[in-house]
Amino acid sequence: MDKKRTWIDQSLCIGCQACVEMDETETLFMDENGLADAKPNKLQLVESQMVCPTGAVNIDED
Ligand code: SF4
Repeated sequence: MDKKRTWIDQSLCIGCQACVEMDETETLFMDENGLADAKPNKLQLVESQMVCPTGAVNIDED
């Protein structure tokens, strides 16, 4: 199964796009509903996590 180490809690996302703009790996994207989502990844996108105003960006531990 494809895991998402960095993942978005869409119940908290307000669609500001800040996390996507900060993500140089293009792992995060805006979905068809205007909310952020993540492709399967093993990344720790800390900058995107820090810039999110609602705490919707989560990073799993190993
Ligand atoms: S920064 Fe947070 S609120 Fe803004 S689009 Fe990303 S996950 Fe959603």
